[in-house]
Amino acid sequence: MTKSALTSVAALMLSGCLLANAPEDAGTDTSPLPRAEQPADCPMTGAALQVLGSGGPIAEADRAATSYLLWIDGTPRLLIDAGSGSFLRFAEAGGRLETLDAILVTHLHADHAGDLVDVLNTGGFEGRTQPLAIVGPNAAPRFPGMASFMQRLIGKADGAFAYNGGYQDGTENKPELIVREVETAEGAGAPIGLDISNDFSVVAHPVHHGPVPALGYVVEVGEASFVITGDQSFLSERFASDLAGSNPTILFAHHVINSEDGQPRGLHRTPEQIGELAGAIAPERLVLTHNMQRSLSRIEDGLAAIALGYSGPVSVASDLDCYAL
Ligand SMILES: [Zn+2]
Ligand SMILES: [Zn+2]
Repeated sequence: MTKSALTSVAALMLSGCLLANAPEDAGTDTSPLPRAEQPADCPMTGAALQVLGSGGPIAEADRAATSYLLWIDGTPRLLIDAGSGSFLRFAEAGGRLETLDAILVTHLHADHAGDLVDVLNTGGFEGRTQPLAIVGPNAAPRFPGMASFMQRLIGKADGAFAYNGGYQDGTENKPELIVREVETAEGAGAPIGLDISNDFSVVAHPVHHGPVPALGYVVEVGEASFVITGDQSFLSERFASDLAGSNPTILFAHHVINSEDGQPRGLHRTPEQIGELAGAIAPERLVLTHNMQRSLSRIEDGLAAIALGYSGPVSVASDLDCYAL
């Protein structure tokens, strides 16, 4: 390799790793990265929720960890969670940061937020300058609040990925992130309506997820609505009572554990408890996601336990499944 070739390789590495988001990068193609045709498997008209990642924290083939994308008329509008592996699914779905109204985070376990920085990183190539809202829970021991999490992630001075610090102040051809923390009060906090869009409404509902500050979300689009439980235990009593009889179009429940002894019940609902919740909320359809072998290996038992409390249709989500609302 000639010296000039080495020099240009070094320049490319620099631009690729540190400066690629700057629009004035000489010789760097700043056009959008190749993406899937959009939207994969989702209708071009009306609203739909796509399960980008249907898995959990244990690495298992074919399932990214938790993530959802709300489509309205073929445009991605809301990203809910960005768990490990969902970055790839985001691309496969045709997701783009530039059209999002907000990013909602249920909680700061890695299987819900591990790929957040990657989504922001790729979004930095899109040239969006309009601020972007990002919503998540408050802090607790061993869990930063959403604002501190973002500061530690992309803080311009000392963030782990400080080179993405343009998101902190809306510079370097990146949108400013407007961070909002919701107080969860260990799952007993009041639901908070979020002013995100005129096209849909979002309410954040605190849930109980052991020591982890955590939220569920309810989104209404016209006459349709969906509920995302997030990771929650049966101690999420306010969530269940506030949403009782609300009849959403779809309830997405995180199906993490089976009914056997020894499962982490202080963190998650058993299948029977998911059935109780679904019976109270009365959705038109229940979708089980956050699936892992520990729950899927006993799926027949799980469905039977759910049926004790809920008699409506139940689906088990796979990655990229799209549910029209
Ligand atoms: Zn989880
Ligand atoms: Zn969790």
